[in-house]
Amino acid sequence: MAGAMSAMTFRPSAAAMTTAGMAAGGARQVPLFPQAPLMRQPFALLPAGSIKPSGWLLRQLHIQAAGLGGHLDEFWPIVGSDSGWSGGKGESWEDGPYFLDGLVPLAWQLDSPQLKAKAMRFIDWTLDHPWDNGMFGPRSNDDWWPRMVMLKVLTQYHELTGDVRVVPLMTRYFHYQLQAIPTRPLRDWGRMRWQDELVSVLWLYQRTHDAKLLELAHLLKQQGYDWQSMFAHFPFTRKTDADALRKQAGGNDVFMQDLGLQVHGVNNAQALKASPVWSVVSGRAADRDAVHHQLQMLDTYHGLPNGMFSADEHLAGRSPSQGTELCTVVETMFSLEVALAITGDAALGDRLERIAFNALPGALTDDMWAHQYNQQPNQVECSLHREPWTTDGPESNLFGLEPNFRCCTANFHQGWPKFTNSLWMATADQGLVAMSYAPCTVTTMVRDVPVIVEQASDYPFRQTVSIIVKPQRALAFPLQLRMPAWSQGTHIAVNGKPIQVTSGFTTIERTWAPGDTIEVSFNAEVKTERGYNGALSFSRGALVYALPIKENWVVWRKRGPTNDWQVYPGSRWNLGIAPDAHVAVSEHPIGDKPFAGAAPAVQLALQGRYVPAWKASEGSADPVPAEAESSTDEAPQSVTLVPYAGAKLRITAFPLLS
Ligand SMILES: [Zn+2]
Repeated sequence: MAGAMSAMTFRPSAAAMTTAGMAAGGARQVPLFPQAPLMRQPFALLPAGSIKPSGWLLRQLHIQAAGLGGHLDEFWPIVGSDSGWSGGKGESWEDGPYFLDGLVPLAWQLDSPQLKAKAMRFIDWTLDHPWDNGMFGPRSNDDWWPRMVMLKVLTQYHELTGDVRVVPLMTRYFHYQLQAIPTRPLRDWGRMRWQDELVSVLWLYQRTHDAKLLELAHLLKQQGYDWQSMFAHFPFTRKTDADALRKQAGGNDVFMQDLGLQVHGVNNAQALKASPVWSVVSGRAADRDAVHHQLQMLDTYHGLPNGMFSADEHLAGRSPSQGTELCTVVETMFSLEVALAITGDAALGDRLERIAFNALPGALTDDMWAHQYNQQPNQVECSLHREPWTTDGPESNLFGLEPNFRCCTANFHQGWPKFTNSLWMATADQGLVAMSYAPCTVTTMVRDVPVIVEQASDYPFRQTVSIIVKPQRALAFPLQLRMPAWSQGTHIAVNGKPIQVTSGFTTIERTWAPGDTIEVSFNAEVKTERGYNGALSFSRGALVYALPIKENWVVWRKRGPTNDWQVYPGSRWNLGIAPDAHVAVSEHPIGDKPFAGAAPAVQLALQGRYVPAWKASEGSADPVPAEAESSTDEAPQSVTLVPYAGAKLRITAFPLLS
């Protein structure tokens, strides 16, 4: 541990010293925008560390740190002391980098010496043990894929610390890869996920302007899977038929070939950034905008009311009894964060919030000590069943340490910390933009002047946001606010004076004096959406609502400091709702665990009637019956819906009463 502690001493790079806003503290760097020959983009993520969580978001990150996020390495050997990514003989593939991709930003956002020391065990080993040929990482494999994840870790770590070892290591690695991949090309996971490496290649190019990096960018595109073409003529409009795929592959492992990899959920999640990121190199607006069609195809054929698409673990159609993997949730979030900066499309921010505030906490216990591999919008039981998954195993919707497979155990950590880091971004006209409205403090440089922005809010549980702008001295710059499409009649005032609101983004141009205050009031009406078989689901603002089913938690097996759990229903759930049902909204205090179902911060009260014909089989609700099949003689029932994540057993999509 002594080595790890000494390495935490700040080592600013020469480049960081000249370009960073060092006066603002630590290794803080200024946001970098692509320059010619790269395509311009409207927004750029602020360097990691610029945004600190506050309010309920800080509590949520503390829960993550007190749960698996801060303790996984202590009892899970996969990322323990024998990890190949810290010089051991143990697991040497994607899990170490996955864990760090969330641990690194979390450690610095919480400014936790313990968590930083845990991260430095891996980072120091990685930076101090490159191969002679420029490769890095464990010597037991030369797979490009896990290194793509570690590059994401190193870029964040460099932004946080300015460590001088990062840029030379990445430069040598990319030079090595440039000469190696013509004969050892991208394959399987790396071939499908090339765009994630491109993010890191462009990150380095913006710092060194090394022309070889653009050569590598073109090679990655050339060897990588062409997602844009696949979605241009999207053939996967139904639930994946695993047996048919296996037959087509003629006895080979179809799920490691394009036939299977192109319908793989996590691959599709990561692919949502492919076109926007490539457009930065190609300069083509059509590439940049292809993400919209991609999302539209996923929504049309696999969309779920929690903002995600189904894939369990392959694309699974629109029935709300299908699942979505937790890795798919956090990778979709990261893709949207990157795509939002490049496209400047506010709708991607709406989508990001819906996933972050519903699907992400929905897959984890309130204390973040257990997670699901697959979550279902209509989740009536979490038990050992092979149905209804396309290809996943019987443990997939249990809450536990590593149900079904261990990837999500290591990978979910990036969700909240990276979301935190994308709450505000820099704008190309040297201003700032509020992308999402969770509570935080931004410390950055605007036009060479240190600026602090404090965003106080209980959004998404409440609809008002208060933003205090604190430039070091009076400073003119544009400040933009993302306007969620669901809010009609948003009210914005600066120091009490109303501002003209425009859809997409509202821009406020003024000379900001320290202490200027922006008050935003969104108008969140209860909205109904129609999905699979005409099913009704309810949202209000960024939150999706679900009928909570009484939960009976049963320990299935002990897993060190945590458990694997099955959850059985203790109340009726087969509720139908009339299209004109009256909904009453009530607000309640926001608990220490913001998303916990025991004390929901908002409730929707309405009436429905049970539909006896709607049953469950193999632990899952049968597909929601269509209106014509949902007749009932049952008496009306008063029920209460709660935010999606607060109900670990739930109905989110209701049959329409005939
Ligand atoms: Zn996973």
